[in-house]
Amino acid sequence: MVDGGVAEAVSQGTWNLSELYGGFDDPRLAADQQRARDGASAFVSRYRGRIGALDASEFLAALREFEAITALTGKPGHYASLRFSVSTDVPEVQAAYAQAQAFEAEINQELAFFTVELSSIPLQQFEALADSQELRPYRHYLHFQRMFTDYTLAEDVERTILRMQVTGRDAWVNLYTQVTSSLEFEVEVAGQLRVLTSSEVRALATDVDRSLRDRALQATVEAYEPHTPVLTHVFNTLFEEHRSEMTERGYDDVMDYTVLKDDLAPDIVDALLDVTTGHMPIVHRYHALRKRVLGLDDYGMQDVRAPAFGEEPQVSWERASELVVEAFTGFSPEAGDIATRFLTQGWVDVFPRKGKRGGAFCAPGYPPEHPWVMVNFTGKTDNVFTLAHELGHALHFTLALEQSPLNYWTGLPLAETASVFAELWLHEHLMSVSDDPKLQRQLLDRQIQGAVGTAFNQVAYIHWERRAHAARAESVASAGDFGRLWSEEQSRLLGDAVLLQDRDQHRWMRIPHFVFARFYCYSYAFGKLLTLGLADLWREQGAVFVSDYLALLRAGGSMTPSELVTELGIDLSDREFWERGCSVVDRYLIQLEELVD
Ligand SMILES: [Zn+2]
Repeated sequence: MVDGGVAEAVSQGTWNLSELYGGFDDPRLAADQQRARDGASAFVSRYRGRIGALDASEFLAALREFEAITALTGKPGHYASLRFSVSTDVPEVQAAYAQAQAFEAEINQELAFFTVELSSIPLQQFEALADSQELRPYRHYLHFQRMFTDYTLAEDVERTILRMQVTGRDAWVNLYTQVTSSLEFEVEVAGQLRVLTSSEVRALATDVDRSLRDRALQATVEAYEPHTPVLTHVFNTLFEEHRSEMTERGYDDVMDYTVLKDDLAPDIVDALLDVTTGHMPIVHRYHALRKRVLGLDDYGMQDVRAPAFGEEPQVSWERASELVVEAFTGFSPEAGDIATRFLTQGWVDVFPRKGKRGGAFCAPGYPPEHPWVMVNFTGKTDNVFTLAHELGHALHFTLALEQSPLNYWTGLPLAETASVFAELWLHEHLMSVSDDPKLQRQLLDRQIQGAVGTAFNQVAYIHWERRAHAARAESVASAGDFGRLWSEEQSRLLGDAVLLQDRDQHRWMRIPHFVFARFYCYSYAFGKLLTLGLADLWREQGAVFVSDYLALLRAGGSMTPSELVTELGIDLSDREFWERGCSVVDRYLIQLEELVD
């Protein structure tokens, strides 16, 4: 609001949140909450019990009202969560955040009847509504609300399932969390025996000292080992519970629910998994190269993330911002302008400090509010890529501001597209401005390591998960059964260059995604390869691609992921598209191989 506020915020690298509210005691905040409350009660008295009786134009009016209340309700909560992110240790902020969350929950509960009544409109009547001219802009939203109707059981059965989940699935997941989060990892570091947490021990996988990496891995294996019988039982139980629920609901395959929830179709995921699996020799070559660079005959799991190409240089905040803006501008001047706006308006909170959350994020509100970016910049090359990543999200959420609140959020499958693509712009830019082969090797290694971790590894996880579910469908599986499947899938992924030991066969029990969700890992591979495929189209089509891509971002969540990319001429069920993504990784690897020889 006030110019001075912006200049001060930018020079200190903090947010200028006065754009939203001047503080928790800003009368505008209380007024917004009052308006939301009044709007919600007016909405309830106008529409409750009547949603099924509305014609298309009345329905449109109701939807508009619903989304206006949702946006208004969300704004104080958005402000409070941003304040909390940078002041987690201030009691006044904690209390205000809790109050804002409770307020949001209260209003959402009041409005919950809307989607419930929407899903119980008789099918034919619903189709006519969703296809009407008036409701065209909300077609995708409406269909998405009804997506699971065919698989929904009678109301009392659904209620029972929900109730039983507390002592069923949730209890097993909790048991897994309890067992694994209480583990302690004893590792000798610098001559001293230390007890490490799981994140500390994981961080040692990238340490330059090989014997330390090895001890860290051994400590992890030994910490899990005594819990093998319990964890095997947890996996068996959750897999069987999932199978019986899916059968009860009428799904053909245990993975279908996950794919449908992401607004995709099974043939798309099949094409993705098939093509990626066919290109696993890229991973074999990558590890063979790293093995050669590290000069190890017995290159193993303790080495797959070792820094093979030396330490990356430090970068100042000013230089990092410059590089990211140049990279964005190189893609499109409009993208560069938006990145600049974030960096010069106090929309990025930059440095770590006491009470500030770790990590990084881009937090969107509802239109017309622009998103806010938080990073913890310490000058590592990693941090520069994180800045590009979060500003990529910010670009997406900024362009999508022309959508109405219900059409604003893009679904999960495309959620990471703009961010990962922005990292690629930075990669290409850094490669083009650097003539230092050492830095180029590091940059290429980073990209390939990222693609291997996010695409190929995750596909191997899905193969294991499918086979493990199938094994459990036959009969209760032993740890040895799960371990054998794991070793087979890991060998297929890693090839001959990586020496797998007996201790590596039970790593499946350390992947929480198998416990917390079903078949979730495919979505990482989907997001990464989709973005790499886009990068290949960009290389091929240049300017034409750029404007189509920005149009895709502008569309927000107003269409399904498949419809959105159709505008770019992409058919997600076509194997050719996924081939493109893999070919980008292959090209990076060829470049790296050339720089090593
Ligand atoms: Zn992200």
